[in-house]
Amino acid sequence: MMRTSMPRLIPIIGLEIHVRLKTASKMFCSCPSVGENAPPNSAICPVCTGQPGALPALNGEAVRLGVRAGLALGCRIPDTSHFDRKNYFYPDLPKGYQISQFDFPICVKGQMEIDVPGGSPERERIRIGITRAHLEEDAAKNIHDGGSKTTLVNFNRAGTPLLEIVTEPDIRSPLEAKTFLQELQAILRTVGSSDADMEKGFMRCDANVSLLPIDDNNLPLQTELNPKIEIKNLNSFRAVERALAFEIDRQGSLYANNETPVGSTRGWDEHTGQTFQQRLKETSADYRYFPEPDLPPLDL
Ligand code: ADP
Ligand code: ZN
Ligand code: MG
Repeated sequence: MMRTSMPRLIPIIGLEIHVRLKTASKMFCSCPSVGENAPPNSAICPVCTGQPGALPALNGEAVRLGVRAGLALGCRIPDTSHFDRKNYFYPDLPKGYQISQFDFPICVKGQMEIDVPGGSPERERIRIGITRAHLEEDAAKNIHDGGSKTTLVNFNRAGTPLLEIVTEPDIRSPLEAKTFLQELQAILRTVGSSDADMEKGFMRCDANVSLLPIDDNNLPLQTELNPKIEIKNLNSFRAVERALAFEIDRQGSLYANNETPVGSTRGWDEHTGQTFQQRLKETSADYRYFPEPDLPPLDL
C-alpha cells in the first residue's frame, strides 16, 4: 500500500574525535613528536617504522595527558587498562597493525554539558555523554603525487600519541555537533592535553549520523536506531556542520523514496559540498583485535 504521509525524522548524531596529545616525544619511542614540522622521514626510528624485533616502550606523559582530558570530561578512570593490536593493511601502517585500546580504555562514561544558543528552545542547554576515550598511535602520512602516479610515505607522524574520544549518539543537529567540538577544543586546550587545532590536523572528527522517525509527541516510533553513516576525517568545524547537513538531507530523501540507507563509510568533498560513498562499514571483527603482548597492562 502507498504510504500517504511520512513521519517526521530527527537526526541522531555521535562523534569520534582524534586529538594529538601534546607530548615532546612519540607514544612508544623517543623520536620527537614533530609531524609535518620537520623534513620528511627525519623523526623516525626502528620502533615507529615497525622494524622486526623493535619493541615499544610506553610514554608516561601520553597516559597522564589522556587521563587529564578524561577527568575534564567527567570520565571514570578505571584501575587498569591495556593496549590491543588493531590489524589492517595499508602503506601508512608499517607494522601491519596499530597499537590501540579496545575493551579496556583509560577513560569511560563521562559527559559534557554545553549551551547551544540559537538551537531549538528545549535544547539550549544539553548534556552529551562520553562513551569512552582511549590511547592509540597515529599512522604515517601518504602523499599521493597525481603527476607521476606515485605515493610517497612520510613516517614522521607514525607513532604520534592520540586520544580517541567517542560520544554517545546524543547530538541532534549539525549546530549541536559544531558547538560540542568547539567546547571540547576549549577544554582540551585549558587542561593542556592537546592544542586541538583542526586546521593543523591535531583534532580530526568522524561524524556518525542516522535518522529516527518520531510521532506527533516527539516520541520515537521504533526502539532500534537506524543504520548509521560514518563521515570520515572532517578537519574543520565548518566541514562537520556542512557534511552533517548534507547527509541529513540525503538520508531524508532516501526515506522519502521508500529506501533505507545502508550502514557505510562516506567521505566529504569540500569543493562539491557533498559526501561520497567510500566503503561498506567494517566491523570490529575485521580488525582481529588482540592484546598487545609487548606492553604490560597499565596500573592507573
Ligand atoms: P562502531 O562499532 O561501528 O564503531 P559504535 O557503537 O562504536 O559503532 O559507535 C560509533 C559512534 O557512532 C559513536 O559516536 C556512537 O554514538 C555513534 N552511533 C552509534 N550508532 C548510531 C546510530 N544508529 N546513529 C548515529 N550515530 C550512532
Ligand atoms: Zn621512533
Ligand atoms: Mg566503535
